[in-house]
Amino acid sequence: MTQECIFCKIVAGEIPAKLVYQDEQVTVFHDINPAAPVHVLIVPNRHIESLATVDGEAAETVGRLLTVADQVAQLTGVAETGYRVAINVGRDGGLAVYHLHAHLLGGRRLSWPPG
Ligand code: AMP
Ligand code: ZN
Repeated sequence: MTQECIFCKIVAGEIPAKLVYQDEQVTVFHDINPAAPVHVLIVPNRHIESLATVDGEAAETVGRLLTVADQVAQLTGVAETGYRVAINVGRDGGLAVYHLHAHLLGGRRLSWPPG
């Protein structure tokens, strides 16, 4: 656990979040400021800073985030209508929290390209 990392604290249950799913590798919870009717964050339990710092060992975890994304899409009822999985990287990507996370958005028609 990295001190002062808000997502590490959510994984550890030290600060509250609306959990959707948790296993030994990943934790899924509702985004506090949802941008769509379904907006959850899928995070590795182990602290990885961002996609830019993913090494060989962490690559498996990234694959797991995407597999869980589709399972959670089914769980939250958006698998049939469709959804988007987004991973922001760096300043231009809009990354705000430096603990790797995938956004799962659905429940409305999402515009493309994103703003
Ligand atoms: P990003 O811009 O990709 O770093 O996204 C960070 C996301 O984390 C934003 O959509 C925030 O609304 C969300 N967020 C920040 N703090 C919390 C929290 N305590 N619980 C749930 N979501 C959070
Ligand atoms: Zn962390």
